[in-house]
Amino acid sequence: MTSLLHAGWLLAWSLVRTLLRRILLPNRDGLVEFTRHYANDRLMPLTISERDLIPRLSACIGCGRCDWYQTQHTVASRSAYRGMMAFVLSASRSMPDFDVAADAMANLSEEQLSTLRQRCPVDIPFSELAGFVRSKAQLMLSP
Ligand code: SF4
Repeated sequence: MTSLLHAGWLLAWSLVRTLLRRILLPNRDGLVEFTRHYANDRLMPLTISERDLIPRLSACIGCGRCDWYQTQHTVASRSAYRGMMAFVLSASRSMPDFDVAADAMANLSEEQLSTLRQRCPVDIPFSELAGFVRSKAQLMLSP
């Protein structure tokens, strides 16, 4: 019972604070606030198309087919490049690591990414994914 009262109090207080903030600071820019709050965590706001891309990546079933077609590329990199499956399943999901992830696929051409998409059973948009990661990594590197 006490915990329910405490939760109710927290929710009510949060509502009052939010309403007061909106009344007293009507011109707050949410994007500026977001950027300021999360800059140290290396998180950036997404565009609508970037946001819509994320669920499409979760379709990956981890079949490894994309890696199989890139065996030579992986061997040539002396395993510095772990393949696109790892990229889709992990590297592309951690924005603070996008600069490292972008380096890992630096040598992949648009043609190779397009070919991988054709071979992927769930139609992962490799080219869009690479563009997304590269553009965010570029923003991290700019002052
Ligand atoms: S081929 Fe497609 S589904 Fe299979 S591991 Fe690669 S990205 Fe995932």
